[in-house]
Amino acid sequence: MFELVDRDCTGRIGILHTAHGKVRTPVLLPVVNPHKLTIAPEELHDTFGFEALITNSYIISKDAFLRERALEDGIHSLLGFPGTVMTDSGTFQAHVYGKEGTTNSEIVAFQRDMGVDIGTALDVFTEPWDGPDTAREAMEETLSRVEEAASIKGNMAIAGTVQGGMFPRLREEMAVRLGGMNVDVHPVGGVVPLLENYRFRDLVRAVLAAKRGLPPGRPVHLFGAGHPMVFALGTLLGCDLYDSSSYAKYAADGRLMYVDGTRHLEDIGESPCGCPVCREHDGPSLRDLPDAERERAIASHNLWACQDELRTVREAIREGTLWDLVDRRSRAHPHLFEGYRELCAQAGQLEPYESTSKPSPLMYTDHLSMRRPIVMRYARRVYSRYRSPEKRVMVGFEEGGRPYGRHYAEAMGRVLEVANAQFLVKSVLGPVPIELDEMYPVAQTVEAAPWDSETVKRVNHMMEHCSHNLRNALAVMYDGEETLDMLRMMEGKGGSFDIMMARARATADMQFGPGATDVLMEGAVELVTSKRTGKLRNVMVDGEHVLSMRAHDGMYTLKLPGARRLHAAWESPRLRVVVNEDAAPFAREGRSQFAQFVVEADPELRPGDEVLIVDEDDSLLAVGRTHMNRRELLSFGKGVAVKVREGTGKEEDN
Ligand SMILES: [Zn+2]
Repeated sequence: MFELVDRDCTGRIGILHTAHGKVRTPVLLPVVNPHKLTIAPEELHDTFGFEALITNSYIISKDAFLRERALEDGIHSLLGFPGTVMTDSGTFQAHVYGKEGTTNSEIVAFQRDMGVDIGTALDVFTEPWDGPDTAREAMEETLSRVEEAASIKGNMAIAGTVQGGMFPRLREEMAVRLGGMNVDVHPVGGVVPLLENYRFRDLVRAVLAAKRGLPPGRPVHLFGAGHPMVFALGTLLGCDLYDSSSYAKYAADGRLMYVDGTRHLEDIGESPCGCPVCREHDGPSLRDLPDAERERAIASHNLWACQDELRTVREAIREGTLWDLVDRRSRAHPHLFEGYRELCAQAGQLEPYESTSKPSPLMYTDHLSMRRPIVMRYARRVYSRYRSPEKRVMVGFEEGGRPYGRHYAEAMGRVLEVANAQFLVKSVLGPVPIELDEMYPVAQTVEAAPWDSETVKRVNHMMEHCSHNLRNALAVMYDGEETLDMLRMMEGKGGSFDIMMARARATADMQFGPGATDVLMEGAVELVTSKRTGKLRNVMVDGEHVLSMRAHDGMYTLKLPGARRLHAAWESPRLRVVVNEDAAPFAREGRSQFAQFVVEADPELRPGDEVLIVDEDDSLLAVGRTHMNRRELLSFGKGVAVKVREGTGKEEDN
């Protein structure tokens, strides 16, 4: 059972609950070869902090001594490992050695009987050069084996591998069909040849295809990926588990892993790493070690390098900077960069998983940043949700300084002396109505200036699109005295622009959807501002506290009276998370809601959105903030899905 703890877009920190404890993801499961223990499993656990490992059930089953001990004492005792043990089924061995293989039901029962936590069905391997017919045949056979495995797994969790070779449609289809089975973990298979040959573009295609079809509440395992170079990218693609024997294989031929690639021991003067091995040794002293000791030392370094990078990835998720990390890591190798570019090209798939607000600024480096889901979403929402105050004149400013309202205050004042105008800024995100200047990500964007040519092209295109849609009688870019003279001549009559009221209204539409302002602010509106900062704090309507604005991201917290207004005006499922009758009383009391009780939700919801929590009769129970989109809400079987802020209490019981 998988629980979502924290997220940054499709990257997530989770807890995988197993019979031998909780495993925090993203996680690397080192491959342990029972015949050759480069590092003892106990040490992997105690010294290196690995909560889980993976070993090969096929190798154990083919060795009479190991087999007997494993069945007698259990796999954990055989390996001397107290944590979670996953086993591979020997697909690769069966693939390589053919008839030496085993049957699916035999190997699954064997894994179950030796007390494995996560077992794997014997799937049929697809090579990158296999044609569509071979790939489909392998897929159908694997699907029936996974179904069989799920029926005999007992208490063991079972992994059902998504194959499909180089055919994204096949992978997606297989993922959908696996999603309907009683399977616990989904490896993405057949990617080792892609990883070995640095075919990262194909890797990205394969993983994204699998993710399209899989239920988002299931953990995804990138089979055979164990190089720190790929963890950031893999995690942003939505992978949770990694495994690899690379740390040991690389050590055997003197190769050291780093986040930016691999270095051979022969070439190392000083190792750019702070792990215990590299603190003790430089290149020459490592080379001087006896063979076995040297191999062990390099394997240790490789494991530390993996653990360090996974910590970095998890911290990036907490900070909301995973995309920035992937951007930096991808520039270490042109082929990794190809993978990143492919991700950017398909980033629309990631948008529903992107939070509406993040704890960190949006770092806009170059044109690839415009593919970021948060940037694409801003553009879409401003076109589909923003409604302008309908002034006669629109004046645009070139990007100059944030917050825009303050930076352009003087210029706005001069324009308003001669024209009844509203204002926008030509920003790196596209046209920004000036009253949205404090809303995430507008105020929180840090960009490289001057913009690169692709960005200039996109922004100009958006400005043009925007000017076609404007309903103003006149739209001009501000150019100082010249503009003022022209406006004086053409308009001649001043106007006013209440930026605080415009902000209160535009933010509501951008955040909750078109028409929200009309519902939330119908009546006598009073805006309460902070005495200290002058910023908008609360929106009161007819004496009721409807909305609060958060200082750090310029977005609203929905109060109960505001929730009641939206609930009364909008049909289900708009803005709603529907919970079943078991959860309803807890929601009323203001308790947070767990994913397993959610029965329906608005497909437009994004992580971080304010939501109405209702029961199946659409009675309002509470108001809160969702951590998940609809697909996730309906898929996760565990964990907090909606943080409830205020319940309606008992008075609305009938
Ligand atoms: Zn090191």
